[in-house]
Amino acid sequence: MLGLMQDFPLLVHRVLDHAARWHGDTEIVSRAVEGPIHRTNYRELNARSRALADAVQKRLGVKPGTIIATMAWNTWRHMEIWYGVMGVGAIVHTLNPRLFADQLAYIVNHAEDQWIFTDLTFVPLFEKLQDRLPKVRGFVVMTDRAHMPETTLRNPVCYEELIAEGDAGFEWPDFDENTACGMCYTSGTTGNPKGVLYSHRSNVLHGLMCALGDAMAISGRDRIMPVVPMFHANAWSIAFSGPLSGASMVMPGAKLDGASIYEMLNEGKVTITAAVPTVWLMLLHYLEQNPHLKLPHLDRVVIGGSACPEAIMKAFVEHYGSDVIHAWGMTEMSPIGTLGVKSAKAAELPSAEWWKVKLKQGRPPFMVDMKITDDVGKSLPHDGRTFGRLKVKGPSVARSYFKGEGNDAFDAQGWFDTGDVATIDEYGYMQITDRAKDVIKSGGEWISSIELENIAIGCSGVQEAAAIGLPHPKWDERPLLVVVRKPGSNVSREDVLAHLKGRIANWWMPDDVVFVEEIPHTATGKISKLALREQFGDYRFTS
Ligand code: ADP
Repeated sequence: MLGLMQDFPLLVHRVLDHAARWHGDTEIVSRAVEGPIHRTNYRELNARSRALADAVQKRLGVKPGTIIATMAWNTWRHMEIWYGVMGVGAIVHTLNPRLFADQLAYIVNHAEDQWIFTDLTFVPLFEKLQDRLPKVRGFVVMTDRAHMPETTLRNPVCYEELIAEGDAGFEWPDFDENTACGMCYTSGTTGNPKGVLYSHRSNVLHGLMCALGDAMAISGRDRIMPVVPMFHANAWSIAFSGPLSGASMVMPGAKLDGASIYEMLNEGKVTITAAVPTVWLMLLHYLEQNPHLKLPHLDRVVIGGSACPEAIMKAFVEHYGSDVIHAWGMTEMSPIGTLGVKSAKAAELPSAEWWKVKLKQGRPPFMVDMKITDDVGKSLPHDGRTFGRLKVKGPSVARSYFKGEGNDAFDAQGWFDTGDVATIDEYGYMQITDRAKDVIKSGGEWISSIELENIAIGCSGVQEAAAIGLPHPKWDERPLLVVVRKPGSNVSREDVLAHLKGRIANWWMPDDVVFVEEIPHTATGKISKLALREQFGDYRFTS
């Protein structure tokens, strides 16, 4: 027997409609790419998204299923494009400008993107790349007539003129909630990048999940700033969770240095924000240099994308009075998988014990299921010690890649193998020990590169650290620690080793510590272990 409740497809434009009807005056503050601070609200954003929805169909020939790419910073315009394009059953494919030209060309061609919406920043990039993108019909430059550049781009369209052609009273169509609406490629550290195709249903459910009390706990009283870009795994849902909660949005635009982020946090009276650790390192460094500055509005900071070092967490919690939520996820999961919030049991732990748990990546909210298994798929115990392959399931987890490539990560029971290695403790907190391909295998045992890095970064004078396994005649692999010194510091190999001693098992001790000017990063801000292993390909341990 079926229930007698209304059919209400979970379509993302319903999120914006809700925000416009019930939080219409709530502000969206952005740093415009052209420079000034721009203010709008949900009522206006909804009207402009509807006008855009109308215009992209009439002028650009967009139809349900058409894939439209964006290369853009977090601003109100980027939000309008998400809602306007998704709202007609078309798909927004976010492009990461930090990818190499070859990868970008591959991704755009593989996805068969029809139009590219680009911020002014990336016009020169596409002028160079466009000949390698033969299927792209044209480019919409996200600015007004006054700022429209002279450009050799094919079919350049001015964004504000495009919107002006549309009808702000355009009625959103209704369609199946399983319709595709968003697309993002993984960075493809091994093999070609793979496309993840989100649906309206998965995005709405994921947006709700992230707003839950034991997730980011977003409410209509929050002012939320996604520093994590909309081109990096959906800005961790914030462009959906914010409007569905009626939270005010603060969009940082193109400037992500410490001073600019501080300015937006302060001007925007931001209560919750989210980004990868490197962004917070820059902010904390800026605050250290300007000790009179405080963060009086900031209640909590979501940190993920790579493991959050203890030093960053402690600085926010103990020095600035803002809580930190450590989160883990991936593009294939929309992206949120776990968040390090306090469970009732964990709340009973003494402070020092809780800190050990807080440093882990956290617990899954409703709609994410997870397990760790051995190599033959047997589930492993939740004892906080046993490492296993981390596998996940849920309505906002991919079940296949676009065009079916790389599908061996999905098993017949619907579990997706994340490629991460993790432990789960008795309280249900998951801790990433490594990406499967980065774990250091010494004498048949595993050493967690992430743990080595996190501890090393606590050594004074160390700015950034990366541990990689290099071949060793006796032990198979041994750890090499690569360190960037803080400006002005002369921290030595011996200082770093002395700091590690006693904090890790003796056999985890790096065989050597080397200092470099810079550690290479991937397009999503992670340490590029692949590049480091290449860089140190000829390195040999002396003993
Ligand atoms: P890409 O794979 O394209 O770099 P993703 O954001 O999808 O981008 O990367 C997901 C991976 O990032 C995860 O599988 C995990 O290895 C790593 N990761 C994400 N968050 C954390 C975290 N809090 N701690 C450790 N690793 C993390």
